[in-house]
Amino acid sequence: MNSNELQSRLNLVKNSIKEAVERSGRTVKDVKLIAVSKQQVLDKISFFKERGIVFFGENRVQELIEKNKEITDINWHFIGHLQRNKVKYLLRIGSCKLIHSLDSWRLAKEIDKQARKNNRKIAVLIQVNISGEESKFGLEPDLVAGFLDKLQQLENVEVKGLMTMAPYIETPEDARPYFSRLAQLKHKLQLKGYSLPELSMGMTNDFEVAIEEGSTMVRIGTALFGKREDRP
Ligand SMILES: *Cc1c(COP(=O)(O)O)cnc(C)c1O
Repeated sequence: MNSNELQSRLNLVKNSIKEAVERSGRTVKDVKLIAVSKQQVLDKISFFKERGIVFFGENRVQELIEKNKEITDINWHFIGHLQRNKVKYLLRIGSCKLIHSLDSWRLAKEIDKQARKNNRKIAVLIQVNISGEESKFGLEPDLVAGFLDKLQQLENVEVKGLMTMAPYIETPEDARPYFSRLAQLKHKLQLKGYSLPELSMGMTNDFEVAIEEGSTMVRIGTALFGKREDRP
């Protein structure tokens, strides 16, 4: 893929974000673009970085570590399912700034412990299984409030909001009820006094609908980079 093609993909995505943001009565500053670089080559990551993309999402710890050696000044976001035995490697990466996928107390304790060891704090989002599908990771919506209470014990973990993945859908419109449900959960919890500024929802197929429903972080891979390679 040549640089003209990458540039036009970037323009398209940015333009679609802008239009969706305007439809939701907000401004582009309100929605962060997380470029999902999993299984993508370094050249493409550099290309987007040079054009001002700041946040890059990875879903495998090992892959993030490898890429972080090759490319500096990136703000990495961990977006995949996180195994507890990998947390110690992830927290050593100072440029990994946000974990989108906190979904259990055991994982939270390990993240807190490793953050403390590395003398840092780490921002996290709570992954919510809003669709109730068995195949999906994430907490049941009803358990989120209690989980937030418990997380206050952990000094090195800073909760910034909620994340979800909509079920695989044919048309983006079908994802709307799921995004709307997560936005409502966030609203309800905020009324109870919890601080949850971020809502991470929306991927290549459904990010415009997600923005219309209040997303503040869209995680976009394919629309920017093209099809994923088998190996980065
Ligand atoms: C791969 C992935 C994405 C990006 O998916 P695309 O459809 O390529 O935009 C977003 N979020 C998570 C959690 C992912 O694993």
